[in-house]
Amino acid sequence: MKNYFKKFPDENGYFGEYGGSFVPEILADEMKKINDAYYSISKSHEFISELRSIRKHFQGRPTPVFYCGRLSEKYGGRIYLKREDLNHTGAHKLNHCMGEALLAKYMGKKKVIAETGAGQHGVALATAAAYFGLECEIYMGEVDIAKEHPNVIRMQLLGAKVIPVTHGLKTLKEAVDAAFEAYLKDPVNSIYCIGSVVGPHPFPMMVRDFQHVVGIEAREQFLEMTGELPDAVTACVGGGSNAMGIFAGFINDEDVSLIGVEPSGRSLKMGDHAASLSYGKSGIIHGFKTYLLQNEKGEPAPVYSIASGLDYPGSGPEHCMLKDMGRVHYTVATDKECLEAFYKLSRYEGIIPALESSHAVAYAIKYALENKHKSILVNLSGRGDKDIDFIVENYGTGEGYFD
Ligand SMILES: *Cc1c(COP(=O)(O)O)cnc(C)c1O
Repeated sequence: MKNYFKKFPDENGYFGEYGGSFVPEILADEMKKINDAYYSISKSHEFISELRSIRKHFQGRPTPVFYCGRLSEKYGGRIYLKREDLNHTGAHKLNHCMGEALLAKYMGKKKVIAETGAGQHGVALATAAAYFGLECEIYMGEVDIAKEHPNVIRMQLLGAKVIPVTHGLKTLKEAVDAAFEAYLKDPVNSIYCIGSVVGPHPFPMMVRDFQHVVGIEAREQFLEMTGELPDAVTACVGGGSNAMGIFAGFINDEDVSLIGVEPSGRSLKMGDHAASLSYGKSGIIHGFKTYLLQNEKGEPAPVYSIASGLDYPGSGPEHCMLKDMGRVHYTVATDKECLEAFYKLSRYEGIIPALESSHAVAYAIKYALENKHKSILVNLSGRGDKDIDFIVENYGTGEGYFD
């Protein structure tokens, strides 16, 4: 696709008919300021070289590409992983949090604000804030605070203020509202940092650009390792940042199939899954237009996945466009398939993946079985340490999953 990154998003933040900016006027002004700052600052030599140095010396980039020899031998095909689990803090989210916080620094902001669900975004942003010496306020539902104790402690150790949200269902949705309110009270000194390629323009574009490094590295590394490009590239899709990061690296390689994997949870009944691109309809949430899972009244539907990082009722607007264009194919993996993949990657390769990433691994195993002579590259978005207590308590250590 010629000039893809110049064309999308357009100047109003649209990817085809998705995206845009549906926010109150006061916020619209702030979004415009952030957009202008992003265009001027992020293209400067100083910003680019500082970000490059952070990625190398603080985050440990480039992360390796790894060939899964045992898994490939077992299931056929050739399965490769881009090891974002080896990125500092154990997941891809730090890629955009460091970029957003660096922009905050250049804009003269004193404080970064965000919400968090399971705490992964909160920890990544708190890490970035500590690095830059910025204040950090993380809004988190009381229910999630009780569930995600280790991440709450991590954020506090990193110097962030974790603010409990006590109204409504006391989970992510209320936390988003509370974080926006706090941001609106002091938009001069603070900046809102979004956790995926979602929200009003310019966030889906900025977060994609900051994650693009994953795809650029992976393409180069894969070529160097094998002398060719992969036949397919796959990633799990919650909001869609890790997927957009790796897909961006291959978007112009028309022969490379791109596959996004959404969570189909425990069933396809409303409230049992979070596969918004596969089963949603056009709608607006959190200031942007997307494929939205909605109830009869058109309100965002309740969503669920065994991987809490994937349970969002919408998806990044760029994914919506890429689906309509047919450039990316979107499919689903169930909780059960995700668990199987989790156990298999752990036992066959010595890599314990995050439950989110395990959805993409599940697809890769299926692909390998059906395409014995082809290669597939998985974006392994994060490590599974955060999930092991939950899994072992509920499902055991994996006996019965191996022939
Ligand atoms: C948050 C998270 C995801 C989902 O977010 P995307 O924006 O869809 O990438 C995936 N994997 C891990 C490890 C996460 O922490």
